[in-house]
Amino acid sequence: MTFDNVRGSSTPGRPSRTHPNVSGTPSVVQSLRAHAGHAVPFSVEFNPPRDAAAEARLWRAVRQFECMHPAFVSMTYGAGGSTRDRTVRVTGELAQQTTLLPVAHLTAVEHSVAELRSLVGAYADSGIRNILVLRGDPPGDPLGEWHKHPQGVSYAEELVRIVRDLGDFHVGVASFPQGHHRSPDLATDTAFLAAKLRAGAEYSITQMFFDVEHYLRLRDRLAALDPIEGAKPIIPELMPITSLRTVQRAEELCGRPLPDSVMRRLRTAAGDGGEENAAAVRAAGIEIATEIAQRLIDEGAPCLHFITLNFAKATSEVLTNLGYGVTAAPVSV
Ligand SMILES: Cc1cc2nc3c(=O)[nH]c(=O)nc-3n(C[C@H](O)[C@H](O)[C@H](O)COP(=O)(O)OP(=O)(O)OC[C@H]3O[C@@H](n4cnc5c(N)ncnc54)[C@H](O)[C@@H]3O)c2cc1C
Repeated sequence: MTFDNVRGSSTPGRPSRTHPNVSGTPSVVQSLRAHAGHAVPFSVEFNPPRDAAAEARLWRAVRQFECMHPAFVSMTYGAGGSTRDRTVRVTGELAQQTTLLPVAHLTAVEHSVAELRSLVGAYADSGIRNILVLRGDPPGDPLGEWHKHPQGVSYAEELVRIVRDLGDFHVGVASFPQGHHRSPDLATDTAFLAAKLRAGAEYSITQMFFDVEHYLRLRDRLAALDPIEGAKPIIPELMPITSLRTVQRAEELCGRPLPDSVMRRLRTAAGDGGEENAAAVRAAGIEIATEIAQRLIDEGAPCLHFITLNFAKATSEVLTNLGYGVTAAPVSV
């Protein structure tokens, strides 16, 4: 991707402070309020497609979710090169060609501040006003040593300030109910979250978890540390497990193994035989996600954010189980 070609930039590589295309687009927090009727709002996360076939599959899911009226949809930001180009283009198309409210994830990995500013400008030019600001992990090995770009940033907090300084953007950040794997302890982790919120983030989306107690304790810790920042929405992230294969993905996203109680239910469903009872595992996964979601609703979560892996069916089944009036999506997983 080239970064010095951003429409609307007053200085090469640096977008102007105001982006007329984005004014009038609601923020995530405004959308949560608008969607808060009799049911807790929900939202979904997509991943950038790697090729044309994956892009077609993503669009099928997008159109299915469009009928279900999520409060927002987010698009992760990851691998380098052409996938990054495709991410920016497809996220822009979500803003321009659907009725959905897109949130673009943005990470500091391998970017200078000038490049990050240009990326934000590119998003703004395609009508995106909501950005989930992340530091990101070292490429190749998420647990490896983090090296900042020589002209980049070290922490998400700095990037929150940069994005806020660029204009009328609405920023969210990541939060970690069990603590980020690099944080020395939960108190320090919560203090860093409070700092990101104080820097201008309006809400956080959590790392996925399977024990709701972790979410509730994070909410309590943040409220006790800083009542003003603690009042901002902490949006819980969840993912219905649809096969034993997705357990590995779930563990990567949780940053730790799934709880024994969850694994026991999935293994019991899989059966003792040589072949996994795929239908039973899927049913157990949907049931577990439904239970987690129901507890979160009962505990007053502001939204349910589903990792979809670009499929609509499992999420729509959970929502249907919860009594949401969504039409179960007919296609695939
Ligand atoms: C909802 C969600 C969405 C995500 N989406 C993506 C994505 O699209 N693409 C992607 O690559 N990754 C994504 N991630 C993963 C994320 O990038 C990693 O978890 C990353 O390691 C941490 O990002 P962060 O923004 O929380 O970093 P930071 O808030 O910068 O924290 C990084 C580490 O530094 C510590 N820290 C923070 N501030 C300071 C400070 N001032 N001084 C010292 N230490 C500090 C923190 O405690 C933490 O240990 C996502 C995570 C979540 C929860």
